[in-house]
Amino acid sequence: MGEKPNTTIEFGLNIIHYSLNKSMHSDVVIIGGGLGGLSAGTYLSQHGINVTLIEEQLQVGGYSIAFKRDEFIFDVALHAIPGCAPNQPFYDILTQLKIADNLTFIKLKNAFNVYLSNYNFLIPNNISEFFLKLIDEFPEEQNGLNRLKNYISKHGQLYYDVVDGRSNVFKIITQFVPRIPDFLTNSQISTDVFLNKFIKSQRLKSLLYQAAVFFGEPMSAFPAVNFIIMFYLLFTCGMYTIKGGGQALTNALKSKMLEQQVIAEEYMGLRSLDKTAELRKSFLAHMNEFNSLENLYNYPKESIFVW
Ligand SMILES: Cc1cc2nc3c(=O)[nH]c(=O)nc-3n(C[C@H](O)[C@H](O)[C@H](O)COP(=O)(O)OP(=O)(O)OC[C@H]3O[C@@H](n4cnc5c(N)ncnc54)[C@H](O)[C@@H]3O)c2cc1C
Repeated sequence: MGEKPNTTIEFGLNIIHYSLNKSMHSDVVIIGGGLGGLSAGTYLSQHGINVTLIEEQLQVGGYSIAFKRDEFIFDVALHAIPGCAPNQPFYDILTQLKIADNLTFIKLKNAFNVYLSNYNFLIPNNISEFFLKLIDEFPEEQNGLNRLKNYISKHGQLYYDVVDGRSNVFKIITQFVPRIPDFLTNSQISTDVFLNKFIKSQRLKSLLYQAAVFFGEPMSAFPAVNFIIMFYLLFTCGMYTIKGGGQALTNALKSKMLEQQVIAEEYMGLRSLDKTAELRKSFLAHMNEFNSLENLYNYPKESIFVW
C-alpha cells in the first residue's frame, strides 16, 4: 500500500497470456469491463490494490454503452435506475466509488407504464401518489393497500440495509432483531402468499408485482423478502435516469479507475495485425460520429475510448 497502485485496462481476446508474458504484476485480474468489472476495478484500485481489467470488446462498458445509427443514438440498456438521490442505495454506492458528484440524475415523472391484457396503468414515481392512484382504481382494496404500504415502509429499507451490509450494529440490534421472525417468514414464503395477506384482486397483485418482474420469475416462486426489498427500491426510493445515459456512467467509472493509473499501456492482445487495423478503423469512424453529436447528447469527447 502507500504507493500508487497500477491500474490497467486491456483489450484483446487472449490478453491474459500476453499480460503474463509481459510479467506485469497485478494483485487482481478482472475479466470483463462491464459495470460490474469497472466498479470492482475502481473500488479496488482506490484501496491501493493493483488491478488489471481485461475486456474482450473494443470498449469497456458492457451493456452500459451507447451507439449511433443514422441520426439516432441508442442507449443500449440502462434507462431507469432506482435510488439515485443522496442517502439512497445506488447513490451511496456511487459515493463510495467517488463518482456520484460527476453524474447528474434526473428523477423520472412516472416509474413504469404497465400493460396487462386489455389494461394499462401508469405508475407515478412517488410512493404516496402511487398508492392514492391504486386506491382510486381499486377502492374495495383500500384497507389492504394501506396495510401493505405501512408494512413495506416499516420493513423495506431495513431489509435492504441488512442484506446489503449497510446497517450498523446498533441498528441491527435495536431495529432488526425484533423483526427477525418476520424476516425469516418472508424469506420462506412466496410473493404470492405474502400479497394474499393484503390484496384480493389478481390484477392488483400483478400490478404490484411489477417491482420484481425483471427477475423473470412467477410471483409464486419469488421470495417475499426479495419482493419487499425491490418494492422499497423501485417505488419508495423512486426511479432515475442518468444524464448522458449508461455511457455517462461507464465513462465516470472508467475515468475514475484510470486516475489511479501508473502503467498507461493498452495492448491489443494476440489479434492479427490486419484484423486489428480493420477494427481500429471502424471504431475511429464510429467515434467521429459521436463527436459530431456531442452537444446534442452531452457526451464529452474523452468519453469514447481510443487506444
Ligand atoms: C436491454 C436491457 C435493458 C436494461 N435496462 C436496465 C435499466 O433500465 N436499469 C438497470 O438498472 N439495469 C438495466 N439493465 C441491466 C444492466 O444493464 C446490467 O445489469 C449491467 O449493465 C450488467 O453489467 P455487468 O458488468 O454485470 O455485465 P455486462 O454489461 O454484460 O459486462 C460484461 C463485460 O464482460 C466482457 N466479457 C465477457 N466475457 C469476457 C471474456 N471472456 N474476456 C474478456 N471480457 C469479457 C463483455 O464484453 C462485457 O463488456 C438492462 C439490461 C438490458 C440487457
